[in-house]
Order: sequence, then C-alpha cells, then structure tokens
Amino acid sequence: MEARYGSLFRALRARRRENPGASPMGPGGWLTSFSGGVKTLAETAAGKLKNALRPGVSAAAVTRQGAAYQIETDSGLTVSARRLFLACPSWQAARLVAPMHERGALALERIPYAPIAVIALGYAREHVGHPLDGFGFLVPRGESMRLLGCLWTSSIFPDQAPAGHVLLRIMMGGAVNPDALRMSDGELLNAALAELKTLLRLSGSPLWTRIYRYERGIPQYTLGHAERLAALANMERTLPGVYLCGNAYHGVGLNDCVISATGAVARALGAASHEQ
Ligand SMILES: Cc1cc2nc3c(=O)[nH]c(=O)nc-3n(C[C@H](O)[C@H](O)[C@H](O)COP(=O)(O)OP(=O)(O)OC[C@H]3O[C@@H](n4cnc5c(N)ncnc54)[C@H](O)[C@@H]3O)c2cc1C
Repeated sequence: MEARYGSLFRALRARRRENPGASPMGPGGWLTSFSGGVKTLAETAAGKLKNALRPGVSAAAVTRQGAAYQIETDSGLTVSARRLFLACPSWQAARLVAPMHERGALALERIPYAPIAVIALGYAREHVGHPLDGFGFLVPRGESMRLLGCLWTSSIFPDQAPAGHVLLRIMMGGAVNPDALRMSDGELLNAALAELKTLLRLSGSPLWTRIYRYERGIPQYTLGHAERLAALANMERTLPGVYLCGNAYHGVGLNDCVISATGAVARALGAASHEQ
C-alpha cells in the first residue's frame, strides 16, 4: 500500500474513497462461517479424503531419496511421496526440513507465535444490559486493558446460542500480554469479567464457560518476515516437490490460508506440467 499510495494513511483514505461501503482491509459485510461451525470445513475435507487421511498421526522426520521424500510418522507408518505439502505450523515444518535445508529451517524457526487464550461465556440475554448490536469490539493497545477483544458471537451467528441466551468470545494474551496464559482458569475468568462487567453491563454469572489456551496461537509477521519468506521461496526451489502453506507466511485469516493452500497446489501442478 505504501508503494502504491505513498503512505499507509493515504492508502486508507484512497481505499475508502474507491469503495465507500468497504472497510480499509476488505469488503464490508457480515463475518461468515459454516452452519455447524468451522469444523464443517475440516470434516468435509476429511470425508472426501476418506482413508487417505490419517488423523492423529504426526510426521516425525523427512528424508530426501532421489526425486521422492520419505516421511516417517510417529505411528510407525512410513510414506514415500514426490510431493510434500507442509501445511503444519512453521515451527513443525522447521523440524522436518532441518536435515535437508538448514537455512530454510532457520527462517521457519524464526517466525514467532503469540499465545492466546479464548474464553467463551454463555449468558442469559436479560443479564446483558448492552444491546450487542454489532460484531463485538477490539481493544486498542493504549487502553491498558487486559482484554484483546470480545466477539458477540451470537449476534454474528444467531444459531450459536439457544433462544434467550447470548454467546460471548473473549480473547486475552497476544504478543502484548503473553503471560495471560500462565493464569489459572479462575484468574483468567475473573480478569475478563472485571473488564466486561461495566462494558457490557453484565449482571449475574455466566451460565456456561469454556477456556481454551493456544500456546502458539497466532504467527507474527515481525521485522525480517519478508527476508524469511525469500529464504523459504529459495528453499522450495532447492527442494523440488516440497511446498509450504498455512497461516505462517502471507496471512492468518482462514481466507488467507485457503489462498495459501491453493497457491501451493498451483505451484505443484505447474512443476508437474513441466515434468511431462
Ligand atoms: C483464537 C483464534 C481465533 C481465530 N479466529 C479467526 C477468525 O475468526 N477468522 C479467521 O479467518 N481466522 C481466525 N483465526 C486464524 C485462523 O483460524 C488460523 O490462522 C488458521 O486456522 C490456521 O490454519 P492452518 O491450516 O495454517 O493451521 P492449523 O489449523 O493449525 O493446521 C495445522 C495442522 O497441522 C497439524 N500438524 C502439526 N504438526 C504436524 C506434524 N508434525 N505432522 C502432521 N501434522 C501436523 C496440526 O495438527 C494441525 O491440524 C483465529 C486463530 C486463533 C488462534
């Protein structure tokens, strides 16, 4: 955006002028999911792959054998393949490629991940004074709050809470407050409620609570990421048949991950067409 518009602020203003209904980051509109939740995506893919999919089996080591790669798994199964798509987190990919490409492994290892805790709260509607008329809120850094944000999940996806109830999804931790994940469940819940109570005018206690911790939750594109991506493009050239995809490279949203996956497949198909 800087290259095209001269500065980020100019870019944001220009984008808004070009498409007044859209947010600067993309088209406007509702957030979307599958009915039944995002697990539908994984379950549908699994249904199509049938027995070719080995859930719960991890790649433990990869060795190059001529034009093929031998993948040893933690279940004792060994697979030989000419194409290897590393769709796992970058720190796992680092471990797998290390014996074949030291510089690539180093670039992968250097992509840091921020930890994140997700607290899901179910409330009776009458115990939430706020109208919840939106998608929720994100907290800017300067607010000295512990919440990163709160999604009003049942406002976005009404079928995700029973009638007369609401579902809130709170995020804590992140790159600015990684120690949040060291808090106990009770401490996390109290910290979240302390800030939410006044913001959303909560009365009473949540009827339903779930807490999820992601130690390596969100990859961070820190200074040097572009150089890391260049090293990884070089690694793909040096190791023909190896393709990286997933959230660690060009975007963390699910849409970005789908683009990343289709890009990896396109590179593989392009290479295959030259082989014939
Ligand atoms: C709390 C949270 C909330 C989010 N909310 C949103 C949202 O609302 N909208 C949105 O668009 N995005 C959201 N994201 C981002 C998005 O969900 C992720 O970036 C995306 O799901 C990552 O997909 P992936 O395929 O790259 O990685 P993953 O989904 O993590 O898949 C990697 C897979 O690799 C497997 N694996 C790991 N090691 C090995 C190994 N050695 N051998 C074999 N398999 C291995 C893992 O088991 C896993 O199944 C959120 C992320 C988090 C953490």
